[in-house]
Amino acid sequence: LDYPTILASIQEELRPFWGQGKVADYIPELARVSPDQFGLSLECSDGRIFELGASTTPFSIQSISKVFTLVMAIQCLSEKVWTRVGVEPSGNPFNSLVQLEYEEGVPRNPFINAGAIVIADMLVSELGAPKEAFLQFMRSITGEVGFSSNEKVAQSEKEHGFRNSAMAYFLKSYGNLKNEVEVVLDFYYFHCALEMNCRQLAKAFMVFANHGCVLQTGEKVLSLSQTKRVNALMQTCGFYDESGEFTFSVGLPGKSGVGGGIAALHPQEFSVSVWSPRLNKKGNSVLGMKALELLTTKTGFSIF
Ligand code: GLN
Repeated sequence: LDYPTILASIQEELRPFWGQGKVADYIPELARVSPDQFGLSLECSDGRIFELGASTTPFSIQSISKVFTLVMAIQCLSEKVWTRVGVEPSGNPFNSLVQLEYEEGVPRNPFINAGAIVIADMLVSELGAPKEAFLQFMRSITGEVGFSSNEKVAQSEKEHGFRNSAMAYFLKSYGNLKNEVEVVLDFYYFHCALEMNCRQLAKAFMVFANHGCVLQTGEKVLSLSQTKRVNALMQTCGFYDESGEFTFSVGLPGKSGVGGGIAALHPQEFSVSVWSPRLNKKGNSVLGMKALELLTTKTGFSIF
């Protein structure tokens, strides 16, 4: 496949979509990002990398981090993870509270906020220094050291995270949060505020395209079966109440974040990350979704 030509034609066809959508503004510090930026990084399973635009500009990965904390929780607890969080798509927005009451404090899946907060709680219990362990994990799967969590973004989330606090206390009332709410949310905001660029994210997601192993080092991060499960969850729950739409139009397992990033993969073929801050109404990047739709259409590589 002639990826440079394919990417150039994607860039061309994205033109009419520039300027559509809005930057997330419920986290004030995120609203300060300059909206009209776009980057893409595609890593093939043979290690070749193809890129467009601002592929090395760091951005707030937000909910994409939930995939990495889930992997860490699976490494620590294996099957026990699924006693406290489900594996069904929610059909609701990422910050919705309604299901949590009638499902008695067990979040539908690890990618909605309530589920990720439970995962954060598991890691706070299991690891002495969860923030350090998280950064160390990110370094080990990307082979890169140059990234960190943006304190201003984390602080801004903390100051405006009334819904997340409500969720965490609600979880606690059902006995599904073992540590103090403040401690758990402090770690949750820390991992959401991690900054990475498209190239680093594509590298990190290569693990899920490469049988659960780091491509460059061969280090085993997940077993084959665990990798299948994480990919299945990304496919069914990675885009909140737009997971069906993403599967329909793109057809790859992936995960989005309100910073405008999306990371996705095709098992054994490639991992890819796109970033553009303007979001649609469901909280997913407009240009990012479109770029990936064009990628799977033009390459013929979707998992379906
Ligand atoms: N940190 C964000 C929040 O808690 C993550 C949401 C997202 O990226 N969808 O609201």
